[in-house]
Amino acid sequence: MAQDAHDRTTTSRTNTPGTAPVEGQQELSQNVNGAPKHPLNTAEKQDSELLNKFGVVRHSENGVVQYKLAGSSGDSTLFEASASAGEFVQSEHKLETMIQSKIQDLKTHYHVDFSVEGENAVRPYVSETKRGAMLYARAPRYSELLGVEAALKASEPSQFTDEKNKEALKFYFLKTPTFGAKTYDAALFAGDEKKKLAVFFEPDAQPGRPITATDALNLHQDIKTSIEALAGHEIAHNSEYQMGLWSLDKLKPIAENIGWTTTEDNSYWLMRGARGEFYRLTNDGLSSDKGWVRCDSKGTATDDLGVSYADAEKAPHLTNSEVRERALLRPPTDYFTSPDEMLADSLMLYRVGEGGKQELSKSGVNLYNAVKDFDQAEIDARFGKTVDGVSKKVRLPDGSLVDNDERAQQVVANFTKTLLLV
Ligand SMILES: [Zn+2]
Repeated sequence: MAQDAHDRTTTSRTNTPGTAPVEGQQELSQNVNGAPKHPLNTAEKQDSELLNKFGVVRHSENGVVQYKLAGSSGDSTLFEASASAGEFVQSEHKLETMIQSKIQDLKTHYHVDFSVEGENAVRPYVSETKRGAMLYARAPRYSELLGVEAALKASEPSQFTDEKNKEALKFYFLKTPTFGAKTYDAALFAGDEKKKLAVFFEPDAQPGRPITATDALNLHQDIKTSIEALAGHEIAHNSEYQMGLWSLDKLKPIAENIGWTTTEDNSYWLMRGARGEFYRLTNDGLSSDKGWVRCDSKGTATDDLGVSYADAEKAPHLTNSEVRERALLRPPTDYFTSPDEMLADSLMLYRVGEGGKQELSKSGVNLYNAVKDFDQAEIDARFGKTVDGVSKKVRLPDGSLVDNDERAQQVVANFTKTLLLV
């Protein structure tokens, strides 16, 4: 299951510059123009390199080699080549060129950036004031670029990090996990070594994971396994940051809209139960699934009969799934360690296309509309409204952002009618 963790402190602390980052373009062109690296590799080694470096698989038949995207559910053929002694090196070069061209395309369209091979990514804090060892990044695979592209298309304008819609997130693909030996198969949103807001993908043992949410659904996997969903969740955290939700004053009203509240002294986030009761998380929500206790409005742990426990550890504990079913507004995924995490997953589902919206709609009209309104508020903050107070841009059911005309409104209305929103 995809999980993530935040390092919110990274962005707000003084950042000591590390060693100078590798100059990306130079490093990459050296690799491309250098001597052929694999003339003696076995076919097996070549296959594993194709998958690990590019997210690509190949298929040979009758002297024709087909190169296909791993993790795609559609027609995934990228190109074909005639089998020959130099074919692999030429095809690798072609894939490198495709990657560079896609990166350039995404930089131009969305103003985002990507890590390059061997780049210094970040030294995460290991305590309040101390940073740990440098984490290094690699260049993205072609499949990862397509997954991030799908997320960007569906999340626009959430990738922007400045007020002028010129600067945007950087995506790092880490070689070393941020949590030491433990890796959560996930991504996180934080500042990089140069304080630039960034998304960090943990090293991933499955380069063949679904690319888009639609690929995941077509391959009968959870939407959350897709690269698009991982990226979409982290881009949603940037929305939250840009919309000021890292301040409790701004987050609290939104949290209330999606079924959360706090104790009076703000010491705990409380999830509202359907029967007027409350639940709170007693651990990080990642290390153990039985981290929830039922509680009163002060956060004091209770059992289902209302008996209090001074030591919450001794109170009966509940799993994510159990709390999800008892919640006033059912979280749309199993990942809801705090209201901003529940909002990030909800926004991701709302944005990744019709399949995601259908999934979100199962949590009811109140959550669906709260997420839709937050999304529109961000779009309005970036693109504004007309003098009559009408939003200039709206999001279509496929996630794309378009001018708010009659046709767009009709498409949205027709799709919304197909959802069983209650
Ligand atoms: Zn998150």
